[in-house]
Amino acid sequence: MDVGAKTGGSHVAVSSMGWKDFMLNPQLYRAIADCGFEHPSKVQHAVIPAAIVNTDILCQAKSGMGKTAVFVISVIHQNPEPKELETVVLAHTRELAMQISKEFKRFTKYLPEIKVATIYGGVPIEEQINTLKNERPHIVCATPGRMKDLLEHQKIDLSHVRFFIVDECDRLLEEVRMREQMLYVFTHTPKKKQVMMFSATLSPEIREIAVKHMQNPAVIIVDEDDEPSVKPDVVPGASGGLLQYYFPIQEKDKNRKLVDLLDGLEFNQCIIFVSSILRAQSLDKLLCSINFPSICIHSRMETSERISRFTEFKEGKKRVLVSTDLMGRGIDVEFVNVVINYDMAPDAKQYHHRVYRAGRFGTKGLAISFICTKEDKEILEEVQKRFSVGELPDIAEIDPNWYRCA
Ligand code: ADP
Repeated sequence: MDVGAKTGGSHVAVSSMGWKDFMLNPQLYRAIADCGFEHPSKVQHAVIPAAIVNTDILCQAKSGMGKTAVFVISVIHQNPEPKELETVVLAHTRELAMQISKEFKRFTKYLPEIKVATIYGGVPIEEQINTLKNERPHIVCATPGRMKDLLEHQKIDLSHVRFFIVDECDRLLEEVRMREQMLYVFTHTPKKKQVMMFSATLSPEIREIAVKHMQNPAVIIVDEDDEPSVKPDVVPGASGGLLQYYFPIQEKDKNRKLVDLLDGLEFNQCIIFVSSILRAQSLDKLLCSINFPSICIHSRMETSERISRFTEFKEGKKRVLVSTDLMGRGIDVEFVNVVINYDMAPDAKQYHHRVYRAGRFGTKGLAISFICTKEDKEILEEVQKRFSVGELPDIAEIDPNWYRCA
């Protein structure tokens, strides 16, 4: 039986089953306790039992429900004493690969022999070749392009891989280049392995492609009847959840409204999404010029700069992040409680990914989308088929307790 947990300001479906029921490796239990994970979430409850007995998994569950811990825990439980590089995790951005590595490090705290490496492009390949040679990692979290390069240079040996995981799998399978790179890596791993793929969004076509790479997979779609998204017309936010509004606006008025929002809202950290790199740069410049603690991240930035900015934001040193869709998926920053779509998402799917950068794991959050063009309106209508998104009232009418993190 699943119940909705309402503790510590968060509201995410958790199971009446406790962690103990999974009968995991004792060192994992200590790490889970250190992370403060009191109960498994609904997706963890649904997937971990199958994953830890080596079943191939295709899992779709809303953003922020704890999918990362599903595969991290399952791999460590099954393989607490790896000898070789036995686990490969692919992710679509460098930041996500880094984030997943960190999660593996958190959960291997009491298994210090397990070594984890992060591999991504944009930095000299020699550094990574040295890491692979000298540190001999057991788990590699990587972007697919750099993995392919390493394979082509015969600098990585995937012949011992037993666990192959793809996070945000629809993103990797949809885009032709990434799909080709991912499949290249896949074909360099042994036939017999556990394959697990995860995403918050999966079209029937992508689902079909994904399962072609699996053997007798468990396809687990965690439904959303416990949807913590709240209706703006009901008293919102009281037990956590994401409050969502739209605001009809003309392009020329966006900056003024944005500044009003940033002045009026009580945000811990905020992500503002825009549609292009140029717009990200100029909006960030504008915000900095009027003293908002803003930072901007986009794909045309040097990798080292990108990673250091991301770390700065993640550590709370900057409170406003202006970004393109590059940061629209997978990224988990604990204190982000407000997301603003300065430019509406390009489709309903991306809207979902973007807004759930706030309200992670059922915590409170607020998402506001500027609706400017006919296309924006159509996307909003699509979104409203699934989420309750009302028109933004006067900011003074939005009680900060509805969206402020505890
Ligand atoms: P998803 O991959 O589903 O988008 P994440 O794996 O990024 O979600 O998890 C979202 C947040 O929830 C992370 O900060 C993670 O540490 C936290 N989390 C995951 N599982 C639990 C749990 N059982 N209890 C408390 N927090 C959790």
